[in-house]
Amino acid sequence: MTSKARTVGFQSGERNIFFHILTACNLSCRHCYINTDQHGTTTLSRETMEKWLELFADPDKKSNVIFLGGEPTMHPDLAHGIEKAKELGMAVTVDSNGYLFNDLLHKTNPDLLDFLSFSLDGPDAEINDPIRGNGVFEVCTTNMRKAVDMGYNVSVIYTVSNLNIAHLHRMIPLLTEIGVKRFFIQVIGLRGNSAQESGGEQGWQVSPEQWLDIVPRVAAQAAEAGIHVTFPKVFLDPDEKFECAGLVTENFFIFPNGRVYRCPLCEDHPIHALEIKDNALVANQGLTEDNFFQLNIAEGCVMNKLLQPDTISYDEQGRPNHRISCCLLKQEILPA
Ligand code: SF4
Ligand code: SF4
Repeated sequence: MTSKARTVGFQSGERNIFFHILTACNLSCRHCYINTDQHGTTTLSRETMEKWLELFADPDKKSNVIFLGGEPTMHPDLAHGIEKAKELGMAVTVDSNGYLFNDLLHKTNPDLLDFLSFSLDGPDAEINDPIRGNGVFEVCTTNMRKAVDMGYNVSVIYTVSNLNIAHLHRMIPLLTEIGVKRFFIQVIGLRGNSAQESGGEQGWQVSPEQWLDIVPRVAAQAAEAGIHVTFPKVFLDPDEKFECAGLVTENFFIFPNGRVYRCPLCEDHPIHALEIKDNALVANQGLTEDNFFQLNIAEGCVMNKLLQPDTISYDEQGRPNHRISCCLLKQEILPA
């Protein structure tokens, strides 16, 4: 059977809560997007974590919470947060760099934690460690194996950049051997350190041609190998509809200083639409990210055009070759 890619948007009526519970991390990845000037250095208390989860709980909607950092397993009360989110009826994911501090695998269990996601940017230490740090590949893959052995659903996030796109295909045997169920391929965004530091002669970003040539093909091969693969659509076909996620979905990106964004590309700028003040969610006034979502431009995602215009190429008449969909449409390939 041949695996076939299908394009999926976020499901309507569903909410996705990306919950940064701290900004501290034990690593210093070259492409780290954490920006303490904008997001602070607070570690949320157990009580605050509970109250903020309650703010986003809605029994009428399927809600997914993704615990993030920094490194979320450095939070001593993460296991408690997972339990609380489950109590509130949410599907729970933790995105970890693989170090799994505070004995997370034993403090929680696969019935409470729906997915444990590991960030890995290369199929071996030679590719991964120059991006994520010396020794990280070994620690991360060792803990992935432990998690699979203990019955957790394990997924992997691979951030594609110029530094590792040529090695994407070599992830398939590694993931299959470890028993990884889901593979999220994501494209690097020019934010945080990656916006300031050169990723080499060609910069961090991959060209549309490289992306289109390599990513869908490797994703199909991974699905053939039995892995559920998701990757961003990024470059829309002429007949595909562009919709800004800020207008049509309920995505919330929560930071420990109380900022709540609707758009992931806006996170480095103080234009958040919402804020948590005294444990209540309030809408900000004045110029916020909301004002940009309305703009209808030929290039698709307006924040992409403003913040990372080098992702867009134009034909001789000055028309964009592709509209860019930054965060809504995903390509999904189910295992063969
Ligand atoms: S693991 Fe995540 S938070 Fe930590 S340095 Fe790397 S990218 Fe940043
Ligand atoms: S990244 Fe683009 S499409 Fe997504 S919410 Fe922001 S402006 Fe809208």
